[in-house]
Amino acid sequence: MNTQISRRRFIAATGTGSVTAAAAMLGATTTQANAASHQSVKNATLVSIEKPAGKSHTFVTNNDGRVTIQILEGPTGSILMDSGDAPEYSAEARAFAESLGKPIEAVLLSHDHPDHTGGLPSFTGLPIFTTSGILSNIQNGPFPKPDNLAEVKALDDTEVSFGGLNLRIHTYKDAEAAEQIIVEAPEMGTAILQDLVYNNAYFFPGMNRVNWIDVLSDLRSKLDVETLLVGHGYPSSQGELTAAIDYLSEYNDMVASSSGPDELVTKMKERWPNRMAQGILDLQGFAFR
Ligand SMILES: [Zn+2]
Repeated sequence: MNTQISRRRFIAATGTGSVTAAAAMLGATTTQANAASHQSVKNATLVSIEKPAGKSHTFVTNNDGRVTIQILEGPTGSILMDSGDAPEYSAEARAFAESLGKPIEAVLLSHDHPDHTGGLPSFTGLPIFTTSGILSNIQNGPFPKPDNLAEVKALDDTEVSFGGLNLRIHTYKDAEAAEQIIVEAPEMGTAILQDLVYNNAYFFPGMNRVNWIDVLSDLRSKLDVETLLVGHGYPSSQGELTAAIDYLSEYNDMVASSSGPDELVTKMKERWPNRMAQGILDLQGFAFR
C-alpha cells in the first residue's frame, strides 16, 4: 500500500489554501454545540464553550481545511491538542492559552498527519506528548518532521490528569490515520475526537474505512458527552458520530461504484456540494489504493 503523500499535495488538501467561502457555509449542516461563543481572531475563528468543570476553546484555522487546535482550560491549567498545519496558527493558540493565566500542562498530538503537527515549532518548550506508536509514525512516516520533534515524549497512559481535569485517552489504529488518540474529559462532558470526525467538511479517505466506521460505532455506544470537538470544522455534539458513520457508509458506496477519482469527486460534489476542505477532493486517489 502506497502511503506516500507529498507535502505540497497534503498542504494543498488540508492546509493553507484559500479561506474559500467557509464563512458562508457555516451552519448549513453544522450541529451546534451548546452555548458556544464564536469570535474572529487573526488566523482563526475561536469557539469557546463553558462548562461548570472547565472551558474548551477551539481554534478553527482560516485555511481551506479548517484544521483545529483544541484547548481545554481546567481549574489549574490548560491542555492543548494538535498544532495546526503551520506555526502561525499554533503561535496564536499558544498566546491565547498563556493569556488565560494558567500553565499549559500538556500538548497532546492526536495523530501523525502534517496538518496537525506542522505548527509544532511554536510549542517549543512546552511538555508535548503522544503515544509511542504515533511518535514512531511521525519519526518514521512519509510526512515532513517538525524541527522540534525531539521534544515530543511518549505517553501511553489511558488515564491522566492535567490542569485539574481527569482525562481518558483512547487509542485507535488503522482508521483515518495509522494510529490516533481521542481525549475524553468526562467532568466536562466533552470529547476531543480530532480526525475521526470531520464536521461539514470532506473527509480524508483514510487507511481503513470499514474499521473507521467500527471505531465510530464503538465510540457512539461508549461515549456519553454533550460536546464533541473535531479535527476539521466547528465543535458539535454526539450526534456528529452518526453523521460521520452515514457519510463514510455512503462514501464507500460511491467509491465502489466509481471507476476512479474523477468520477468519485463528481459524485461527491453532487451529493455534498457545500462542504469545507475542498482540497481534500484532490486526495481522492487514496480511496483507490
Ligand atoms: Zn486532519
